[in-house]
Amino acid sequence: MNLYLGIDFGTSGARAIVINAEGVIQSETKYSFTEASLPSAAVTWKRALFALIEQIPQEIRTGIKAIAINGTSSTVLLCDATGQPITEPLMYNDNRGIEVMETLRAIAPPNHTVLSPTSSLAKLLWLKRKAEGKRQNDYFLHQADWLAFLLHGQLGISDYHNALKLGYDPEQLCYPCWMEQLPEMSVLPQVLAPGTPVGEITADVAQHLELSQDCVVCTGTTDSIAAFLASGAESPGEAVTSLGSTLVLKLLSRTRVDDARYGIYSHRLGDLWLTGGASNTGGAVLRHFFSDAELESLSCQINPNKESPLDYYPLLKVGDRFPINDPNLPPQLEPRPTDSVKFLHGLLEGMARIEARGYRLLQQLGATQLNRVYTAGGGAKNPAWTSIRERHLKVPVLPSMHTEAAYGTALLAMKQN
Ligand code: ADP
Repeated sequence: MNLYLGIDFGTSGARAIVINAEGVIQSETKYSFTEASLPSAAVTWKRALFALIEQIPQEIRTGIKAIAINGTSSTVLLCDATGQPITEPLMYNDNRGIEVMETLRAIAPPNHTVLSPTSSLAKLLWLKRKAEGKRQNDYFLHQADWLAFLLHGQLGISDYHNALKLGYDPEQLCYPCWMEQLPEMSVLPQVLAPGTPVGEITADVAQHLELSQDCVVCTGTTDSIAAFLASGAESPGEAVTSLGSTLVLKLLSRTRVDDARYGIYSHRLGDLWLTGGASNTGGAVLRHFFSDAELESLSCQINPNKESPLDYYPLLKVGDRFPINDPNLPPQLEPRPTDSVKFLHGLLEGMARIEARGYRLLQQLGATQLNRVYTAGGGAKNPAWTSIRERHLKVPVLPSMHTEAAYGTALLAMKQN
C-alpha cells in the first residue's frame, strides 16, 4: 500500500497524519511543544519530528512513500554546512527585524510583502547583521526546509510558499533583480514548487525510524496554506473562511491579486492563485462577551433567516485593514440590546457582512467569482451563523472536509508522487 505522510509544525505543537491514496487517514500522531523544555527551539523541533514518526504504527510506517512538512510562515534559522543551527531560530512573530527596515525600504519596491519586520527577508538581514563577517557559507532556511533536511540530508532547498516573504517571485519563478545586489544572496535557498520530490530519506533516517529506504521527502508549504489544502477547496472560485480568533478569507483565483493597502497578497497554487485577507473581527470579539457554552445555547435561539437590524462592526480595539483599511476604524457595537440573543445575532450578522464585503473586495480587485465557501475554525460548528453567512454570501457554505494542516500537507506529498 502507498501511504503519504504530512507533518504540521504549528505554534504550540506538531502533528503528523498518514493518508492512503484515497485520502483516508491511516494514522495521526501529536507532539506538544510544552511537553519538553529543551535548550533550543531547533532541538525541540528535531525531537518532535522524530517522536511523531516513531509513534506511527510500524506496519503503516513502512508503507510511507512520500513525506512533506509544513512550518509556520517566516519561522527561520541560519545553519552551517553540516546543517547545524548557528543561531537560535527566529519565530514567525519575532519582530527584531524592525532594526533593518530602513535598509529594506531602500532596496525593496514599495508595498512589497517583505516590507514587514517579521518577514523572512527582514529576519535574514537582521541575522546576518548580527553575525557580521563571521561566516560566509551559511544556509538560510525556513523551519519546514530545515526539518525536511533532517530527513533527506540536502541543504539550501525551499518552496515558493515559504519563500514568498523572503522576496521570491512565484510568478517569474526566480529571486527578483532588486535582491541580486544583496550580499546575503549566497545564503538563500534554491526554490522549488511545494510538494516537489527532493530526494529519498538518508540511510541513517531509514534505519533509525524504520522507514522504507525509497521513501521520498518533498518540499513543503506553510501552515495556513496546508489548512487551505485540507479543506477540500480546489477549483477557482472556491474559498475557505477561517472563523477563529480573527476572520481570515482565502479565495482560489485564476488571477493574482495583491493590494498592500488591504494586506491582500497571493500565493501561487500550481496554475492558480490563492488570494486573501484578514480582518481583526472574529471569534475573539465573541469570546469577549460570551463563553463557548453560551455561544452554543444562545445561537440556537437565533432565527437566522431574519436579518438583524443592528449594524455592528465587531472589533476589540480601534482599527482594521481588510476589508476596510482604516487604522482608526472604531468598534461599532452600539446600541446594545438587553436581550443576549439579539446582541449575539447582531454580532454574527455584522461579521457575516464583513466576510461578504471581503469576498466582494477580492472580486472587485480581479479575483475569480466566488462560488463556494468552506469554513474552518471555532465558528464553523455554529449552524445559525452558517445560515446567516449563506444569506450574505449567496453561495453554498460548507464545513471544511478536513481542518488539520497536516492533512493538507499529506495531500501535497500524495499529489506529486
Ligand atoms: P484560534 O485558533 O484562532 O484561536 P479557533 O479556531 O480555535 O481559534 O476558534 C476559537 C474561536 O471560536 C473563539 O474565539 C470562540 O469565540 C469561537 N467559537 C467557539 N465556539 C463557537 C460557537 N459555537 N459559535 C461561534 N463561535 C464560536
